Amino acid sequence: MTEEVLRIEGLRKAYGLLEVLKGIDLTVHRGETVCLIGASGSGKSTLLRCVNFLGYPTEGRIYLEGRLIGRESGGKMAYRESKLCAVRTHVGMVFQQFNLFPHLTVEENVTIGPIKIRGVPPAVAHEKAAEQLRRVGILDKAKDYPSQLSGGQQQRVAIARALAMEPSIMLFDEATSALDPELVGEVLVAMRKLAEDGTTMLVVTHELGFAYNVAHRVVFLHEGTIYEEGPPQEILVRPRRPRTQDFLRGHT
Ligand code: ADP
Ligand code: MG
Repeated sequence: MTEEVLRIEGLRKAYGLLEVLKGIDLTVHRGETVCLIGASGSGKSTLLRCVNFLGYPTEGRIYLEGRLIGRESGGKMAYRESKLCAVRTHVGMVFQQFNLFPHLTVEENVTIGPIKIRGVPPAVAHEKAAEQLRRVGILDKAKDYPSQLSGGQQQRVAIARALAMEPSIMLFDEATSALDPELVGEVLVAMRKLAEDGTTMLVVTHELGFAYNVAHRVVFLHEGTIYEEGPPQEILVRPRRPRTQDFLRGHT
């Protein structure tokens, strides 16, 4: 197997008394696209948020590029805020909502992170921004403002913005769920291209066609545990376990 980019061990997360993640073990290798599927409320977003430390795990270990991020101490995880920021710059996250800066142009949205957070010289940042905007097919909109773009175009800018930080892994949380149906395709095409380019991706999606065509591995989350996982041709076509079968029946 190739190198591990992300390794999650025994991850638990509770909100008060509600245990949402009940011991997750998951590894994503370099260049791999893993699709995370499961019913609403099964813990998919919570899992991504833990990887990005937008949410704090209750227990468990997460390694990024082989380095332990956060440490268990007496059942609680202890983190240093400075370290968290460093982690977040190595994890690219794309949400349902695009959250672009409305007062900045497309190009500025993509260059601001590298310039302000990474200290990349502006000329270099602009060159790299152009490259990422080209990858998602939106370079011609570089001088536009977000409000001038369709939702699908805005989401592709958001993807380019995340890529511009040169993250170790890209996380997508239902990146197409807020889009009008006719705009979903262009975003999925862009995501597929990234996967084919060898981008390491962990993708929460309801687009099972995308998962089937693009994922190297599909993970089905059920009530906070990994209930079944495997190649898309197995999990999405002939799942072995009953909850996975129920879920897929609901999606056809
Ligand atoms: P999914 O993304 O699979 O729909 P989530 O991870 O968003 O699932 O949510 C899993 C469970 O955790 C749900 O029962 C949800 O209500 C609960 N939950 C999510 N975020 C919070 C929070 N900040 N506080 C309390 N409960 C939460
Ligand atoms: Mg969610």
